Parts: sequence; structure tokens; C-alpha cells
Amino acid sequence: MENQARMRVRLVDCAKAPLAKLYAAFRTCYSSESPLEIWQKIEAEKISPERIRSFIGERLKTGHSSPLEQVVFWFAVAGVSRSLSHQLVRHRVGISFEQQSQRYVKFKRDRLIFVMPESWRRAGLEGEFAGLLERISEVYGRALEGGVPAEDARFVLPNAAPTNFHLMVNFAELLHICDVRLCVRAQWEIRRMVALMRAEVKRAVPELGSFLQPKCGESRMGYCDESLEDWQRCPLGQVRPHKSQLFELYERHASRKSRPLADEHYRAVEQKELL
Ligand SMILES: Cc1cc2nc3c(=O)[nH]c(=O)nc-3n(C[C@H](O)[C@H](O)[C@H](O)COP(=O)(O)OP(=O)(O)OC[C@H]3O[C@@H](n4cnc5c(N)ncnc54)[C@H](O)[C@@H]3O)c2cc1C
Repeated sequence: MENQARMRVRLVDCAKAPLAKLYAAFRTCYSSESPLEIWQKIEAEKISPERIRSFIGERLKTGHSSPLEQVVFWFAVAGVSRSLSHQLVRHRVGISFEQQSQRYVKFKRDRLIFVMPESWRRAGLEGEFAGLLERISEVYGRALEGGVPAEDARFVLPNAAPTNFHLMVNFAELLHICDVRLCVRAQWEIRRMVALMRAEVKRAVPELGSFLQPKCGESRMGYCDESLEDWQRCPLGQVRPHKSQLFELYERHASRKSRPLADEHYRAVEQKELL
């Protein structure tokens, strides 16, 4: 189909010295030194990059997540559908969007490109899709020529209409977005966009990018909390356990099917010095 929108994602910028910022933010919580002294040490290179990386890595394994809000990323996103944008803007904490307006932008007929899902092509319905969108383009263009304002002409535009974003998101929220949108339960287009965002961060700050995973990733929950059927269908199901398997272990131990606690165990916990 002609006039297909092409998704493009670029990490425009990120907070300067993100690892040092994260280190100082976390360190402030656990140190008798002030953040000023901590920064003096960082700037004098008294703390090695390895020390900074390993300290952050350890903190990221814990639930102490508010320092992650102090590192921010900016992305430019183009050629995604309005269907995607409806989903993206539901994220409301730690993220800020600017989106191309259908009120102020009058799409020229030759600029009115659309996003067509592969499934239409696979179903052999590409022609029908293209024909309908061609007709919509015509009606839209005629409405503008006839004096209908863009904010009203857009009422005929479909979910397939393309849009662009400039967005800012902090690391804590980006981790959360990856949790839910890299999961195969998420819709393909937003999953693809978030995968490209992850790739951009991995390229720019690999130490942080490697933590961006679906929620079942080993750096996140580590298991799948979706339905058993979804887990069975998921390609990651081969390498990530399902919650029912974890509960199975719990059930086995809690329901007396495993080895029961014996006198020797009670004697062991009665010791004054356990370690
Ligand atoms: C697979 C999938 C299917 C979906 N299907 C639907 C659907 O059918 N219909 C539909 O309407 N939406 C659907 N959604 C969207 C979903 O309901 C959320 O709107 C979307 O995921 C963003 O919400 P969030 O809580 O992650 O927001 P975020 O802003 O990303 O939240 C960030 C964190 O802050 C917490 N938080 C945010 N606001 C509050 C608050 N007010 N109080 C307490 N904690 C808060 C969140 O719980 C989360 O931990 C779907 C999402 C996914 C991933």
C-alpha cells in the first residue's frame, strides 16, 4: 500500500551524567556524607565508574525506586498511529507528551499517510483497507477545501491516522512502561515502539538500558503474572516461569506434601547463636 507511515524512534537526549546522578541520589539516602560531599568525590573521580555501576545495579534489585525518577529521557517518535497514541497517553505519572495536533495541522492529501497492520495484508484485505483510506483522504481534503475547519474535518480520520510525539519520561516510569508494554499481552504497535525506545537507551546508556525488560524479565518480577493460556502462547514462556508454578511450590510446602519440620529443626532454631 502506498502512503504507509513508517515508525521512527529516536532518543533525543537524556539527563547529563545519568549514572552519577543515580549514584548520588541513592547514596544520599544511605550516607552520613551530604550530597555536596558525595558530588565532590564523584567529580574528583574518587569513586570509580565500576563502583558507581555496581552500586546502582545493587540498588536496582531493591524496591527503593524513587531515585530512579531523577533520571530523565527525551524521545522523538514519528509515524505511529492514533491507535497507539490512545494507549500511550494513558500513562500519567512521570511522563510528559507533546503530540501533533489534528486541529492545527491540516494534512495535505499527499501527506495523509496511514499505519496498516500486517494482519490486513495476511488476510488479503490490503486493497479494501487502502481503498477505504483513499476515500477518507478524499473526503477529508474536500472538507478542508469546502471551508470545514481542520478540527472538524478530522472527525473522519480513523485510528490508522499517523501522529508524532515529543516526550519526556523518567527512568522509573520507563521501567514500568517496559514492564507492561514489552509484554506480549501489549498490542504489537506500542510493543514495537517501546522496543525501539529500549534499543535507543541501551545504545546510549547500556548500564540502564539492560534493566528495561518486560515484567517477567530477570531484572524485573522474574515470572509471568498473566493467564496460563497467555503464558503458554508467549515465546518468553520457554524461559520465564508462570505464577502458577511459583504457587505450586508454595502449595507443596504449605500443604504438608513436602518434608515436615521435625524436632531437629526446632532444636536448630532454639540455638542462641543462629549464625
Ligand atoms: C495489556 C494491556 C491491556 C490494556 N487494556 C485496556 C483496556 O481494555 N481498557 C482500558 O481502558 N485500558 C487498558 N489498558 C491501559 C491500562 O488500563 C492503563 O491505563 C495503562 O497501562 C496505564 O496505566 P498505569 O497504571 O500503568 O499508568 P502509569 O502512569 O504508567 O502508572 C505508573 C505507576 O503509577 C501508579 N499510579 C498511577 N496513577 C495512580 C493513582 N492515581 N493511584 C495510585 N497509583 C497510581 C500505577 O499503578 C503504576 O504503578 C491496557 C494496558 C495494557 C498494558
